[in-house]
Amino acid sequence: MVDDGLYAALVRRGMTRRTFLKFSTAMAAALALPATYAPRIAEAVASAPRLPVIWLRGQDCGGETEAFLRAADPTAASLLLDLLSVEYHETLMAPAGADAELLRTNAMERYPNGYLAVVEGSIPTGAGGAYCLVGGRPFVDIVREVCDGALATIAVGACAFDGGAPGAGGGATDARSVRDVTSGGGAYIALPGCPLNVDNLAATIVHYLTLGEWPATDGRGRPLFAYGPLIHNECERRPHFEFGEFVQAWGDEGAQKGWCLYKMGCKGPEAFGNCATQQFAQSTSWPIHAGHGCIGCTMPNFWDAMSPFYRRLPSPVPFFPNVTADGVGTALVGGIGAVAAAHGVGMYARTRLTARAERRAAAAAAAAEADATQAAATTPAGTTTLPRPEAIEPDAPAPSAPEREAPSTLTPNEPPPPRAGDDPEVR
Ligand code: SF4
Repeated sequence: MVDDGLYAALVRRGMTRRTFLKFSTAMAAALALPATYAPRIAEAVASAPRLPVIWLRGQDCGGETEAFLRAADPTAASLLLDLLSVEYHETLMAPAGADAELLRTNAMERYPNGYLAVVEGSIPTGAGGAYCLVGGRPFVDIVREVCDGALATIAVGACAFDGGAPGAGGGATDARSVRDVTSGGGAYIALPGCPLNVDNLAATIVHYLTLGEWPATDGRGRPLFAYGPLIHNECERRPHFEFGEFVQAWGDEGAQKGWCLYKMGCKGPEAFGNCATQQFAQSTSWPIHAGHGCIGCTMPNFWDAMSPFYRRLPSPVPFFPNVTADGVGTALVGGIGAVAAAHGVGMYARTRLTARAERRAAAAAAAAEADATQAAATTPAGTTTLPRPEAIEPDAPAPSAPEREAPSTLTPNEPPPPRAGDDPEVR
């Protein structure tokens, strides 16, 4: 690790303590930690050595590098460059050719198992890796070499996550994810997105510096703090979804009023990420705020799985092309309602039967008691002197049950009923 410390780097940049505390608070929020964690984050990060980074780029558009460089005080992203000591980054460094290669190998030797390997872009493996050569070597070999000797590997962006655009539709280069071509070594973190939200990269590193461990991830290596929330649940347009207020065409009245983009193909109901809360561009906006539906870029194989981007997803039910995911959800909700109704009817019938059985038992007991009393009171001549108690009619009708309300089959998440002018194909 580079040992001049983060705080020294901050002071060199003229960073004030106030700004630094703001950063710590933002990181606590990004990590979904209580604000009370901010001082702990500030203390840990200020005294932490800066992590050396080797940043590799394969088949990519440069979106992650662009996001990395979008630094404007006082955002979390602006401090990312201070958290890290970038030892090798083809786009940013001055040396080229053999000197650049030397920088990379020197960094690996200087920080064995102590540097971060950040990989941007997919890794072509077709034709023996010939589609992407760096310094005359297949990129896939360099990725293996660098990642296997790293403290941790962070795959940034959709292409590094699962092949992304170069791997869509089968691709031509046999594009693979970082995880596909590396054999382990250090920790593996994936930060998909097209591009990634650089705040999530900062928060991942801050988590390590503060707590001494990498954040908890799902089975694909995505940190839960960033890729746990369903975008639809945190979307600012969600109230319009609930009220059935949808944009029907680009630029229509609904679009101008900021209504829900569901019918324009928004994949927010199928995608997970903290885009709605963390936002982009110094937390000023995000695609849905800007009027464009979510395309699900944090999800696996999204170029294929989330297409077409401007229509609702096709039926998830084989042989029933007109059944949408929402239709399945509605049917499930309706099915649950039917089960609840059947359960209610069953409970009512059981209550009636139980009451009838109890009345019969009571009548039998009363009759037995009356017989015993009668026997005791019988005169020697056999004359009955006590009246027989009134018998209870065993089959008398039960008192009527209170009126029951039919169980509701609606839930807050059920898609709203169709409105006049709705396109049934997109529901
Ligand atoms: Fe937001 Fe899209 Fe959900 Fe509508 S469908 S509420 S725009 S995430």
